[in-house]
Amino acid sequence: MPANRICKVCEFSEEEVKEYCPEDKGFPVSYGDLCSVCKNGRPRYGLNRREQLELLASQDNKCKICKTEVKLHQGRGKVSGQIDHAPGTGAGTGKPADVRGVLCFTCNKNLSDSNITWLKAAVKYLEEHGEDYASSR
Ligand SMILES: [Zn+2]
Ligand SMILES: [Zn+2]
Repeated sequence: MPANRICKVCEFSEEEVKEYCPEDKGFPVSYGDLCSVCKNGRPRYGLNRREQLELLASQDNKCKICKTEVKLHQGRGKVSGQIDHAPGTGAGTGKPADVRGVLCFTCNKNLSDSNITWLKAAVKYLEEHGEDYASSR
């Protein structure tokens, strides 16, 4: 097994990938000199691993909605940061997605099941019923 391969796009080494994205597949042999993110994620989001980590760092390593601290590429757990993109961009358009930011898995899932009209109506409904946001979750 070649020691400590380096991705030719993001220039992360195997060891750095383990450090920043411990649950990540890293460098499957069939990907050659590309890490798993640059092989799969870059075509989807237009961001290589380094750019994705920079995006997350620009958000203080926190989910942009609930402020939970997240790491990228950690599977489906709550603390797994997800690259959020605008609906209708990316897949099927032949162009990279319009990336909006990094969200935790839960917020990303909730957001994708929702829309702004529904969210506004839900807030109005809760306010009408005197919901106390600080204690509701
Ligand atoms: Zn890479
Ligand atoms: Zn969140």
